[in-house]
Amino acid sequence: MKLTEILKKDALSLSFEVFPPKTDSDFESVRAATEKIARLLPAFVSVTYGAGGGTSKYTLEIAKNIRDSVGVPTLAHLTCVSSTRETVRQKIADMQKAGIENVMALRGDLTPELEKSDRSRWAYRYAVDLIREIKESGADFCIGGACYPEIHPESADRREDILHLKEKADAGCDFFTTQMFFDNNLLYNFLYKIREAGITLPVIPGIMPITRAGQVARAIKLSGSFMPQRFKSLVDKFGSSPAAMKQAGIAYATDQIIDLYANGVKNVHVYTMNNPDVAEQIQRNLSDILG
Ligand code: FAD
Repeated sequence: MKLTEILKKDALSLSFEVFPPKTDSDFESVRAATEKIARLLPAFVSVTYGAGGGTSKYTLEIAKNIRDSVGVPTLAHLTCVSSTRETVRQKIADMQKAGIENVMALRGDLTPELEKSDRSRWAYRYAVDLIREIKESGADFCIGGACYPEIHPESADRREDILHLKEKADAGCDFFTTQMFFDNNLLYNFLYKIREAGITLPVIPGIMPITRAGQVARAIKLSGSFMPQRFKSLVDKFGSSPAAMKQAGIAYATDQIIDLYANGVKNVHVYTMNNPDVAEQIQRNLSDILG
């Protein structure tokens, strides 16, 4: 099912993100964990392309397995920045052949090697180039793009960030998913600004339950996220006790999701880090809200 259909519905929904295995020998355990997450029957499951420590090799296989074994719609991520046109075209063809309906079109992060290389030689510089490539291929995918309530770290300012987001919308994106954030006011402010700029596409907020103190530094590095005092106090108090930190992190994420729903957001995406237990607890906390 295309995500555009899911996003049209007037019901609240939760979706989950998983990542593919880091090594070939991890494949079975990751397949089992991601299948378990899918069996919670979220609105859809997204499968990253190389992010979060996974390789890009198994994105399609994990996405297909979830769809075929559990029947939950999937969103397969694809990045372009370090790829040749042949590779990207082949990936698009492989996805079509596998019956994939939803693709998250991303640029990918710049490695230090890429930063140093000659950008004029890159086949794709930005995610918008990948969106155009997909459109030109004639593949009938529902296309997602990334957005950043706290501005992408490479953008000079909010105006520039929104300008480039609008380019992705105009190129054929069907919806956006946000980078993680820990203060919902950042999301509400961002939504106001993009609507003002004429971007009307659905935006799915991405929520990351921080269940280990060690994840905090990585979250800040990845997203440059602002950590509200309430969240910092929680990590200070419970960070050294794994069970307490997990419970407090899940409660914080649950609270964020409830506030989003209460303020008119319908769809929320949870970065599960391949942890079925965390996904299950969040879903259980919201059982009467999700209905
Ligand atoms: P872009 O939209 O290309 O934006 C990157 C930067 O370039 C921004 O600062 C933007 O303002 C600027 N820009 C865009 N167009 C132009 C232009 N025409 N001229 C000048 N500047 C421009 N990474 C992975 O490797 N695998 C994944 O699976 C993955 N999944 C993700 C899912 C989500 C929801 C999010 C938020 C991020 C994900 N990422 C993933 C990380 C992502 O690849 C990085 O954040 C990356 O740095 C930017 O990707 P993008 O698609 O947003 O790029």
